[in-house]
Amino acid sequence: MIKIIDEKRINGILEKSSKLSADIGAVREILAKAGEMKGLDPEEAGVLLHLKDQELTGELFNIAARIKERIYGERLVFFAPLYISDFCINDCDYCNFHTRNKSMERKKLTMEEIEGQARFLINMGHKRLLLECGEDPVKNGIDYVVDAIDRIYSVKTEKGNIRRINVNIAATTVDDYKRLKAAGIGTYQLFQETYHRDTYEKIHNGPKADYDRQLTAHIRAFEAGLDDLGLGALFGLYDWRFEVLALVSHAIYMDGEFGVGPHTFSVPRFRPAPTVAYAPQYLVPDSDFLKIIAILRAAVPYTGMIISTREKPEIRKEAFRIGISQASACSVTSVGGYGKDSGDGQFKIYDERPLVEVIEGVLDDKLLPSFCTACYRSGRTGKAFMDLAKPGDIHNLCRPNALLTFAEYLEDFVKNNGDTPVYRKGYEVIGFYLNKIENKAARDRTAEKLNKIKEGRRDVYF
Ligand code: SAM
Ligand code: SF4
Repeated sequence: MIKIIDEKRINGILEKSSKLSADIGAVREILAKAGEMKGLDPEEAGVLLHLKDQELTGELFNIAARIKERIYGERLVFFAPLYISDFCINDCDYCNFHTRNKSMERKKLTMEEIEGQARFLINMGHKRLLLECGEDPVKNGIDYVVDAIDRIYSVKTEKGNIRRINVNIAATTVDDYKRLKAAGIGTYQLFQETYHRDTYEKIHNGPKADYDRQLTAHIRAFEAGLDDLGLGALFGLYDWRFEVLALVSHAIYMDGEFGVGPHTFSVPRFRPAPTVAYAPQYLVPDSDFLKIIAILRAAVPYTGMIISTREKPEIRKEAFRIGISQASACSVTSVGGYGKDSGDGQFKIYDERPLVEVIEGVLDDKLLPSFCTACYRSGRTGKAFMDLAKPGDIHNLCRPNALLTFAEYLEDFVKNNGDTPVYRKGYEVIGFYLNKIENKAARDRTAEKLNKIKEGRRDVYF
């Protein structure tokens, strides 16, 4: 059996590092190494997991913020999840779609309904979706998922189209992953939920209860040609410190075996849901949640990090500063719930603000909203992407592309409401970061493209 996660080793590191974390000199040395953006091994990351000292924690957060800035720049990419079916044959303790939920009327969207939801999200300003569904090979098997992807990509409105569909569906076979690859998906994301085998086996029932099927899914996906792969853990199921070291180990495994590390980490925290009686024993407090983000940013600097609307606005704000590079906004977690008084979703969301309000908050913090989909459409996936992200060069593309896609957003979704504060603030931030492009030729080319967008051209990118 392939060794991706070595529980004994992780437990050993956790024990040792807890003592080491009292040594301020050792902690500062690790922080200094993190600042060089070459990543940390699990032993070093382990020491940071036990930080209690406020001053040192503040230093960790500032270093994480600098790494984020240096690699990805000030941009924050937005997306929305789209749930297409809640039919599921698994009985995960924590999820409202579990089979024991007999009271919910299950729903699978027709292709027309999927098109309707895509139009709704396009009209909100989105260019990227995360497609989600339960696991049900009969009701929502791979044919259905691929048809849904084709249908979404085919929708073109005067407000634009969806240019990248990331996918979060159950672990499956190489052949199924080949179908996703052929359908032109962006990132394939799959969360281990918990890397702790005993806990995993206890809280899952159905085909998903197979820990190894879940853990090796990214290997099959890579074999099928998918090279932008996302990892994640559902925080609250087991000790967050264990999960962080497991995520770092999984990333090291992928980088070593595939020559390509994970494209993203997702850091969902457990949220209540109507039929979920499960009471997680390891709920993560806000202060530790922010440490998770900062430590992952320090340990695996090149990997994008995603936050969802499971988090409240205040936490998202700090998370954006210290390491998050992608965020969902204005999400609905029920099937077909956009534009309707939606029924029960998969779980309750926290940040319910409209997209434009989230964007205004981001602008106030001098971050640059982005709807960019350029890399994967220009073939910069997998190793090609990593070769730019690892040395910290990707921001040279992220910044201009963020400027262009955000200008598109302002023109198409904000301007029609008149000269609003968001429109003004938006162009102030665009002007600020345009001037920060050091290379004059690149700055001029970006300025030229920005003018074209103002004149009505769309979908221009580097
Ligand atoms: N059904 C597929 C699977 O389980 O792999 C697709 C993913 S599911 C639609 C999306 C993710 O939602 C799950 O991987 C899980 O981490 C998360 N999730 C489920 N229940 C949750 C809850 N109560 N609170 C927060 N996140 C939850
Ligand atoms: Fe089904 Fe996924 Fe929910 Fe588990 S987490 S019950 S597999 S939808």
